[in-house]
Amino acid sequence: MRLDSVSDHPDLWTAAVCADPAIDPDLFFPDRWDDAREAQIVCGDCPLLAQCASRALQTEVYAGVVASVPMPPLYAGKRVREAARKELRRIAAGGAPLLQDEPVSTVWRDPEFQIRVYELRVEVGFSWPRVAEQLGVGTDTARRALHAYSGGREGLVA
Ligand code: SF4
Repeated sequence: MRLDSVSDHPDLWTAAVCADPAIDPDLFFPDRWDDAREAQIVCGDCPLLAQCASRALQTEVYAGVVASVPMPPLYAGKRVREAARKELRRIAAGGAPLLQDEPVSTVWRDPEFQIRVYELRVEVGFSWPRVAEQLGVGTDTARRALHAYSGGREGLVA
């Protein structure tokens, strides 16, 4: 997403691929995190990728895809946020984007994350896409977490 609004050096960001008017800004705010791949590919072509990741590490961003990383929302759990920051650090160090349909993390194994999924899905009653959006993960990751939390009792995961 366009970082010029949060950058100390707005001129630098004119070279960003996402600053190209031909790029649809909505690309960086997909309805489903599973759809972040297109934005990630755009970021992969950006000459400012590593700088963008460094900048994101200095700035609290709670929405959108930045430097190829889907940013967890404000109310995401600590583990989810740290996973995103770890990914930003890897990109800032020169790593290539990890596209969304590749394994991004094993956060589903984290008991704290599993409880958050349980709360949102079972107690609050959110749909799977909404649970996934709230936690900044794909729906498969959220489902896997609840499956692990429930010990495989399918009634909880449906
Ligand atoms: S890495 Fe992505 S989000 Fe960052 S400036 Fe480049 S295109 Fe925009």
